[in-house]
Amino acid sequence: MLPANAELSPASPVRLRADESAVLLEIAQAAGSTLDLHEVLERVAEKTARLTGADRCSLWLLDSTRDLLLPAAIYGIDPSFAARWKRKILAIKDERLSQEAITTGQPVVVLDAATDPRTDKKAVDFFGDKSILVVPLANKGRVIGTLFLNHISHPYWYSSQEIAIIQAIASQAAVAIENAQLYEESRRQRHELLASFRRIGDALAAGLDLSDTLRLVVELATEMLRATVGGLTLLPSDGALGTTQWVPIDALDRYGPELQAMSDLAREVEHRREPYYVADLHERRRDGVSGSGSESLRTYVGVPLYLRGEIIGTLGVFHALPKRFSPAEIDLLASFGAQAAIAIDNARLFTRLQRQVEELSAAAQRNAELYTRLQLEKKRLDVIFQNSTDAIFMVDRDGHIVAFNPAAELLTGWSTEEILGRYCSDAFPGEPDNTPDLSDATLQVLAEGAAQDTVVEATIVNRSGHRRHVAASFAYVAASNGEGPYALAVVRDISRQKEVERLKSDFISMVSHELRTPLAVIKGYAATLLNPSLHLDPERQIRFLRGINDASDRLTRLIDNLLSVSRFESGRFKLNLQMVDLADAVRKVVGGMRSSVGSHTLRCSVPPEGVFLRVDRDQIEQVLINLVTNAIKYSPEGGEIVVELRVVPESSLLADPAESDGPNRCAVLLSVKDDGIGIPPNQFRFIFDKFYRGDAPAVKRVPGTGLGLFICKSIVEAHRGRIWVESQLGRGSTFYVALPQE
Ligand code: ADP
Repeated sequence: MLPANAELSPASPVRLRADESAVLLEIAQAAGSTLDLHEVLERVAEKTARLTGADRCSLWLLDSTRDLLLPAAIYGIDPSFAARWKRKILAIKDERLSQEAITTGQPVVVLDAATDPRTDKKAVDFFGDKSILVVPLANKGRVIGTLFLNHISHPYWYSSQEIAIIQAIASQAAVAIENAQLYEESRRQRHELLASFRRIGDALAAGLDLSDTLRLVVELATEMLRATVGGLTLLPSDGALGTTQWVPIDALDRYGPELQAMSDLAREVEHRREPYYVADLHERRRDGVSGSGSESLRTYVGVPLYLRGEIIGTLGVFHALPKRFSPAEIDLLASFGAQAAIAIDNARLFTRLQRQVEELSAAAQRNAELYTRLQLEKKRLDVIFQNSTDAIFMVDRDGHIVAFNPAAELLTGWSTEEILGRYCSDAFPGEPDNTPDLSDATLQVLAEGAAQDTVVEATIVNRSGHRRHVAASFAYVAASNGEGPYALAVVRDISRQKEVERLKSDFISMVSHELRTPLAVIKGYAATLLNPSLHLDPERQIRFLRGINDASDRLTRLIDNLLSVSRFESGRFKLNLQMVDLADAVRKVVGGMRSSVGSHTLRCSVPPEGVFLRVDRDQIEQVLINLVTNAIKYSPEGGEIVVELRVVPESSLLADPAESDGPNRCAVLLSVKDDGIGIPPNQFRFIFDKFYRGDAPAVKRVPGTGLGLFICKSIVEAHRGRIWVESQLGRGSTFYVALPQE
């Protein structure tokens, strides 16, 4: 109740200083002179206070999503205090005057602030308010806040006309405020769009890959429109599958079933080829259009993503509340979508390029590995080719040599440089009328396009005229990469084996002959002696018996020789070393042999003081016997054989005396000299070989096994000595045995 003396009489001066239209014009001018929301609010507060004569005027803006009242502007208090006041955000329910004004849409008049139950007593006390008028700030029925007019000096009674004017001021102010808010919102959107474009631009420059770019686009779109969920669906292209990117990351978990409808909405966008706005997904469902039926996502806007006139996908955002996106925001999303399409295209290109680069570098890596392997393989083959002891060569289809290894050079006497490009028959000429022929064989391989599985044995004549026996195997190298075909041949020099084979068969016939001859002699004499019808005189009997004895000796020698050879070869040969007077041994052997030399003269020269050396006496005697036997065999009847034993300085035996490693070292030199048939120099190398026999008729005429000199050499070398020959064909030979003195 008002006190009776309250100064609320209608006689109180009406403070509105002008008529309604003038007041409204003044407010409109004040508020419309700027689009800055803050300034609009400040001016409205000031002007309204001044025009109404109120001590204080304040404006509160409504945040309907949070049911809050935000202090926006105040006039009539100390400016330093105004700043504090602006921080005082209130819940609507705590500000009952505003709550009433907002819910009723009508002015609320408080005549006595101190007693009115709706006022905040603390504030009333603090400001000393007497009466208060609260008017809703409303435009076209929509309340955006409240306007307070406070009187402090004395209570004020507003006439209904004044209240009507103040209401008109409030709606005028609401329009101005909304305009400024819209302007501010559009500025913010412009600013955000620019910022988003900048970030998209950055993404373009940074070369993000496709999935990162998609995520960024959806994030920016969702942020820009303050949406709850954003989704971007790319249509399948270039064989790539279509993809959908959601923001937030757990959108599908949270709104899974509702987002299933996204594809439906996206198809609609594609179909329309322009932005598609669904203000309320609930209503859409009610309209019978199949849709999300979402319970928690209400608004949807989707835009097509155009690239060079083609739709490459859709970008859509949802909000949990209905009607959340303004036309300006839809435009914003569309322009953002255009920019995003370029970024996506770029990222696709980048991803494709990156994949190509990766594929290329993987291929390059594989090539490099292959190349290294091939190089290694080539190197190995090269090592085999270069170091093979078999000759290897390759000819092209015309029979020209295209490859020739060092062993082939050695075999033929041709160098690779000389022979490349020449015919196979130049390198491996066969003997006239001698088949097969290597050249024919290679040409046959090329003609048949395959190699025979057989080894071709042939005789070739090398560049210095020597015959070589070879065994060749062939391979056909088919043409590839425009090269070939070729015939490849591996040729082995089997001359040595051939020689061994020849020697073996010679040996068998020789041994059987050597055995048979003395046996025949023994058999003949024995049969004669045993023949009862023959009455032999004692002298003939003795001769026959001596004949049997000699033949037996010859047999024994042959068998001894064969046994010695087998001992050398099996490693069972052991020396029985003893200090021996070699002079004595030589004298005795020569003396013993004199009886069997027939018409030959056998001379012997040894130092009278003797020559003492640790040797195996029997073996050294065997050496001497073999040498003297040969000297007899290979020199004419009546020839002279000289056996000499000397002690000489070792240096005198060397071709280069400077090689001697001690001035006082001596050697025992045994020599057997004859004036017989001599030995051709090219046989010097072979005469000490096992089973080797000279091929001169004079040699063939006498029996022999080709073992005598081999045995000598084995024995001498076992004594760490040396054996050699000096000979002149037709003039005679001297065999030397040098034994080192310890
Ligand atoms: P064999 O005498 O049984 O043939 P050797 O091994 O004793 O076997 O001799 C090998 C070859 O050396 C002989 O076949 C012969 O050609 C040659 N030879 C050996 N001694 C003489 C020599 N004093 N004069 C000429 N040729 C010899």
